[in-house]
Amino acid sequence: MKSEYQAFVSTRGHAPSASFGDVLLAGLAPDGGLYLPAAWPQLSAAGTPGLMTRNFAEAARAILTAFARGSFTEEEIAADVAAAYSDFDHPDIAPLTEIAPDLYLLELFHGPTLAFKDIALQVLGRMFSRALARRGGKATVVAATSGDTGSAAIAALGGLPNIAVFVLHPKGRVSDVQRLQMTTSPHANVHNIALEGTFDDCQAIVKALFAETEFAHAVGLTAVNSINFARIAAQCVYYFTATAQLGRAATFVVPTGNFGDVFAGEAAMRMGLPVEKLVVATNANDIMVRVLMTGVYEPGAVHPSLSPSMDIQVASNFERALFEASNRDADWIRKSMEHLARDKRLVLPDIVRERLRERYAAARTDDAETIETIRKTHAETGRIVDPHTAVALHAAYKMNRKSGAPVVVLSTAHPAKFPDAVARAIGAPPPVPNRLKSLFSGVERVATLPNNKDLVRAHIESKL
Ligand SMILES: *Cc1c(COP(=O)(O)O)cnc(C)c1O
Repeated sequence: MKSEYQAFVSTRGHAPSASFGDVLLAGLAPDGGLYLPAAWPQLSAAGTPGLMTRNFAEAARAILTAFARGSFTEEEIAADVAAAYSDFDHPDIAPLTEIAPDLYLLELFHGPTLAFKDIALQVLGRMFSRALARRGGKATVVAATSGDTGSAAIAALGGLPNIAVFVLHPKGRVSDVQRLQMTTSPHANVHNIALEGTFDDCQAIVKALFAETEFAHAVGLTAVNSINFARIAAQCVYYFTATAQLGRAATFVVPTGNFGDVFAGEAAMRMGLPVEKLVVATNANDIMVRVLMTGVYEPGAVHPSLSPSMDIQVASNFERALFEASNRDADWIRKSMEHLARDKRLVLPDIVRERLRERYAAARTDDAETIETIRKTHAETGRIVDPHTAVALHAAYKMNRKSGAPVVVLSTAHPAKFPDAVARAIGAPPPVPNRLKSLFSGVERVATLPNNKDLVRAHIESKL
């Protein structure tokens, strides 16, 4: 079976097969499902040179080329990868450092906004712009943010042709650093809106704008949220480079919210990468730990925690893992998701739970344990870690670790983004990196708007 392009299918089985370019621009499949490759590209079998390299750009080129076959050429991908990672402040992009015997931190926070979302969004933005140019259209990206996603999207899309970006944040409810990371963007295509309301109000307005089909169509409304498969594709890369550097299969411990980052580990395994185990590490918002332990998936209320980027109610990317664990039973997924929407509860068949547990382990860490882990890690290793990383490190410390079996903790944010939690743990905030220092002298551009969808829409129209 040799096809011209890598085809993608929906987890719910009622969407036409799509190319990588379609998937990139659409995000969600038209039947409400999530896209996955019709068949996983096999990197080892194909003798792909990217599989066993520690060079991040080389691995990214090989992996993205395999997924994007037929939509982008290898040369186009090489150019986008080179540009995407040129502004990272570490030559390895995602360096791996040993902090105790056989215990490693995989540092994913060396990009422009100091959190791991830069790794995927920096390259996604460039490919998105390329796909749009080919299609001859323009896009208006609208996003609601409680802090981190907005800045990563602005850093990725600012200055790109054919795209306008509108980010709504709740006025006065994001930290100074988070606000400045968004509002000091110098790019004319970036528009910040401080909404007089909460994060939920911002999200409700974004949803309502998408529901206004005429407006949505007229401005080419689109989203680059965490269910976009291109983000998963880009996040596979560091599982490969870390394994290449270790020279053997590792256990990866992943601070988890929406299940995108840890599912990228499953994607890497399905492409042929040997991995011991994927450990899903959550804060008190432990829906993923509960479902793996008990087989019952039951969203509850969100508890604010010290690791806010993992405060979620529904882990949207879990649908991808369920699709695979059910042996790609799209009918079952569709029925289960309808059932979940209706009853707010889903009980997994034993066979599905067993298949998930062959691959995934899980652990929960509360705020007190998070603080204690930041303190202990600093005392024992001299390293300052952020609260999201600490959630995963705590899970790693609790594991029964064997000598010679490497454990890799994904470190998803720079500690300077969360100075208050760090100060509580070690008595002082972390040193401020240069990227953040310059923020405080930047010029802010932001429009303050009342919590009113029609006024937000009029504002967007006036800027386009
Ligand atoms: C988004 C985020 C996570 C969670 O990643 P998911 O892919 O949503 O599971 C963890 N840590 C940080 C710092 C994040 O920004």
